[in-house]
Amino acid sequence: MQRLAVIGAGPAGLAAAQRLHASWPELEISIFEKSRGVGGRAATRSRPPFRFDHGAQYVKATTPALASAIAAETRHDITQPVWLLHADSQITPGDPAQNIEAKWTYADGLTRLGRELAAGLSIHLETGVGQLIQHGLQWELIAQDSGSLGRFDGVLLTPPAPQLRTMLAASVLPAERQAQIDAALAPASYRRCLSLALGYATPIERPWYALINADRQHPIAWLAREHAKPGRAPAGSSLLIAQMSPGWSLAHWATPVEDLSGAIQPLIDAILGETLPAPVLVDRQGWRYALPEAAADGAALHAVNDGLFWAGDYLVGQGRVHRAIESGWAAAERILARR
Ligand SMILES: Cc1cc2nc3c(=O)[nH]c(=O)nc-3n(C[C@H](O)[C@H](O)[C@H](O)COP(=O)(O)OP(=O)(O)OC[C@H]3O[C@@H](n4cnc5c(N)ncnc54)[C@H](O)[C@@H]3O)c2cc1C
Repeated sequence: MQRLAVIGAGPAGLAAAQRLHASWPELEISIFEKSRGVGGRAATRSRPPFRFDHGAQYVKATTPALASAIAAETRHDITQPVWLLHADSQITPGDPAQNIEAKWTYADGLTRLGRELAAGLSIHLETGVGQLIQHGLQWELIAQDSGSLGRFDGVLLTPPAPQLRTMLAASVLPAERQAQIDAALAPASYRRCLSLALGYATPIERPWYALINADRQHPIAWLAREHAKPGRAPAGSSLLIAQMSPGWSLAHWATPVEDLSGAIQPLIDAILGETLPAPVLVDRQGWRYALPEAAADGAALHAVNDGLFWAGDYLVGQGRVHRAIESGWAAAERILARR
């Protein structure tokens, strides 16, 4: 193999490319990313004077390899615990075993992780791949909004499974393999999530960093005091992240952002037990494919030796940055084995 294309510059694609770049320098790696930046769903947005992670909230490092991948000099542990949010808006302390694990973030946002993983790699931003065409042993990539992106000996596919299914349905490859890939990806459906950022000119102090609704009975799936992280909000002000349940998200998908705080504020007030002032910032991000519900059939995807390689949280079946990184490393090992 001489040329590899990586589709997607999220944690899985970047981790795979980084490992291959280090252990196989002669391999020409081109990464195609449809958005304007790297990091995928581990993303940060700046709305001065606020800055917030509107996708993944923090990263866990459960092995020494992951700990060294998460740049030690700049990372920050969110030491305050995650508590439980119940259906009746009551809250209780969370799992002590979970809460002693470090929750890593960065002062300039979780997107730093993507930028660190992207160092030294060749990345084509704002280049969505719409189609693959198989030419014998090679694959040609066609951009979503222009022509050919070139031919490659291998392609690593990392976008969420539903987006891959759309891309592959438009692609040119033997019908039998196309159907087999589609069936293998189908189990990895994703939960939708409307993520809201609400900034306040007053302090909100609590003994917890965030609340998680583990039983999925509350419209708010996750409520975080984003200002518990460094560099997120000016002193004396506060910033909440509310990630809404799939049902609430779907019902409010088209609601204008200026109307969203009116819909959510009573829910937050009931949890906090106080009436907050009107927010000075309301921002929304709709994640159509936020978190996988189940894993794709990796064995079926990997079984055919046709130059397609697979990595991402759709293979893991769990929406976790560190698991996506490990999935990228596993893909790199499969590619190295075909050297
Ligand atoms: C609201 C929310 C909260 C979360 N909270 C946490 C958390 O607290 N902790 C945690 O560990 N994880 C969390 N996650 C999950 C975590 O973000 C994902 O598991 C992780 O980002 C998956 O990485 P990935 O590389 O598999 O996919 P992605 O991060 O989605 O990367 C895939 C990349 O492919 C790109 N792409 C898609 N289609 C194309 C195309 N056609 N052409 C080119 N590029 C394309 C996308 O733009 C994206 O950059 C959260 C996710 C969301 C949405």
